[in-house]
Amino acid sequence: MGKLHLEVVTPEKVMVSQEVDIVVAPGTMGEFGVLEGHVPFLSGIEPGELRFASGNQTERFLVTTGFSEVFDNKVSVLVDAAEKTTEIDLERARKAMERARERLAKDRGGEDIDFLRAEAALKRAMVRIRISEKIN
Ligand code: ATP
Repeated sequence: MGKLHLEVVTPEKVMVSQEVDIVVAPGTMGEFGVLEGHVPFLSGIEPGELRFASGNQTERFLVTTGFSEVFDNKVSVLVDAAEKTTEIDLERARKAMERARERLAKDRGGEDIDFLRAEAALKRAMVRIRISEKIN
């Protein structure tokens, strides 16, 4: 059925490696979709929902930050973290958001690494919360 090969890889493991018909991913320039025959393409990935379908089966993952390459009907998504959207722990994300907000409140407007890390953590947490609340 599937005409594309999708791989979603984190530093810990290969989360997805399968044939699919379509992939929709959260690119840094906006969401993009990939079907068979897509031209070679490179994009950053930002925290958001990655969807893919094979036949009538759709799967959804939360992905964080990384990049994606489309080449020769293969879609590679390399990200810091990924989990199935149904496996998002809402309480954990709320706590992560709270921690990030506290850090940002203490260090308002700084451009140091801790500030940027807290901003990135806040973004991950907010996206997890938004997706988890949408599906529950
Ligand atoms: P935390 O501070 O709660 O660890 P984080 O944003 O720093 O959040 P990540 O670095 O994005 O976490 O992810 C680390 C690992 O934990 C990954 O395997 C990721 O899939 C998983 N993970 C993080 N937050 C959640 C969550 N709310 N629900 C389910 N899995 C999560």
